[in-house]
Amino acid sequence: MSERIFIGVAWPYANGSLHLGQIAGAYLPADIFARYHRTRGNEVLMVSGSDQHGTPTTIKAEQTGKTPAEIAQFYQREFLDCWQKFGISFDLFTTTGTRNHAGVAQDIFLKLLEKGYLYKDTVSQAYCSSCQRFLPDRYIEGTCPNCSSPNARGDQCEACGKLLDAPDLIEARCRLCGTPPAYKDSEQFFFKLPAFRDKLLDWVRGKKHWRPNVLNFTTRFLEEGLIDRAITRDIGWGVPVPVEGFEDKRIYVWFEAVIGYLSASKQWAKKIAGDADKWRPFWSEGVKSYYFIGKDNIIFHTIMWPAMLMGYGGLALPYDVPSNEFMTIEGKKISTSRNWAVWLPDYLARYDPDPLRYILSINMPESSDTDFSWREFVRRNNDELVAAYGNLVNRVLTFVYRNFDGRVPEPGALSEADNALMKNAAAALEETGRLIAACSFKQAIMTAMAAAREVNRYLDEKAPWKVIKEDRPAAADSLYAALYAISCLKTALYPFLPFSSQKVHEYLGFAGRVEEYGWQVQDLPPGQRLREPQPLFTKLDEAVIEEETRRIGT
Ligand SMILES: [Zn+2]
Ligand SMILES: [Zn+2]
Repeated sequence: MSERIFIGVAWPYANGSLHLGQIAGAYLPADIFARYHRTRGNEVLMVSGSDQHGTPTTIKAEQTGKTPAEIAQFYQREFLDCWQKFGISFDLFTTTGTRNHAGVAQDIFLKLLEKGYLYKDTVSQAYCSSCQRFLPDRYIEGTCPNCSSPNARGDQCEACGKLLDAPDLIEARCRLCGTPPAYKDSEQFFFKLPAFRDKLLDWVRGKKHWRPNVLNFTTRFLEEGLIDRAITRDIGWGVPVPVEGFEDKRIYVWFEAVIGYLSASKQWAKKIAGDADKWRPFWSEGVKSYYFIGKDNIIFHTIMWPAMLMGYGGLALPYDVPSNEFMTIEGKKISTSRNWAVWLPDYLARYDPDPLRYILSINMPESSDTDFSWREFVRRNNDELVAAYGNLVNRVLTFVYRNFDGRVPEPGALSEADNALMKNAAAALEETGRLIAACSFKQAIMTAMAAAREVNRYLDEKAPWKVIKEDRPAAADSLYAALYAISCLKTALYPFLPFSSQKVHEYLGFAGRVEEYGWQVQDLPPGQRLREPQPLFTKLDEAVIEEETRRIGT
């Protein structure tokens, strides 16, 4: 029975390039998950898009003398280019700047208003007398009342992660000119979040399959109690508030961006699937919805968005929110402002995608923060990816190609050891799939790599390269068993290493794409014509470590 899987992935702000922390945190795990389920034969819809409306985009525009729309378009193109080169296989990666998105967001707004979950209230809003404008939260900086970090933003403190209200900041100042903000009355819409608290608590209690950090964080947040939250503000860039008298205001980006999961699904149905109703099965009973995000985004996906969906009614709530922890770079927290990051476009300009996908997968920050260093990158590339897997594939395929007339050899009566190897590889394929389905990506790739090491051990023992001189049939047996195991490995590793797996698939003589063959052991007919193999990966020089480390932070 095929399953229906909806995959929502965090919406990156269209104000800067993607860095490895975001990739390891959300995009790569989502892609591994999507590729696995598609290969399994399940129906998958994976969407995301760039978040254009955040103040991060307007701030970037002001800094660079461009319009927010120009900034948003620039990064949207760069993101799309990265997904293609890095192999993040979205069904649709759109933006919050479409008319479709504005319409869907306004529909949800009006429905919640009609159901009595929204109300108007007058609030005192930060105003800069020298800039003569209202200041959105991100335009206010000051000292965090929770951890005393001196550069907390008006919406959230990056140092401790606490969500803030701008008036709580100590020694608040306008980020444009440094003037302490004054306060002026302004009318805004509020969302009655506390109305959903009990329902949310009940719902969360059933989520035993959630990662402990996500479950604990959410439960604690709900138990501490919820407050009404403003969902409109005085700003000119964003989705218009569909209510008279609010022409100068926009829907708050935290409220509007999460609606992107739904609006993107509708856009996909209309524009790509060619059937405007095709989104419905991915938002109704029977679907399993997964949201891949970083830990700074948990409450928006386990509290705000579910509350909005409950209020709207009739749409599927998240099934799981496998949020990742953070990745540090060379032992330090990533800071985009200090350029302490490894940028994905930079990486892709110099190296192949699969080695990075490998390293980020096997070192994924699933249950605790992990670190990326160029020394580890080079070591794992050379000692693991090249030595344990790439060389294995290349050695076996090249030897068979040259010695068996470019065809899969005909095995005789396979020995116990040959059968054991094949059985082990088939079991590793099944186990890798089970672990991916459980969002245990690190364990999954380790399982596949352990199976590759097993093939190496087997070949060291069998040494078909020597045996062939005295006993050609025996060499054919062990090479057949090794090819069979490699064929299992290329499927098991496909969600992680899609580019090289596709190559192995073709070298083994299969047509089409890996995905089309299913998550199962493939029949490897003796006599099947192979294609001439090329090395899958490149060994990296130690000089890479120093060269690349020097770039960080400069
Ligand atoms: Zn703080
Ligand atoms: Zn100012």
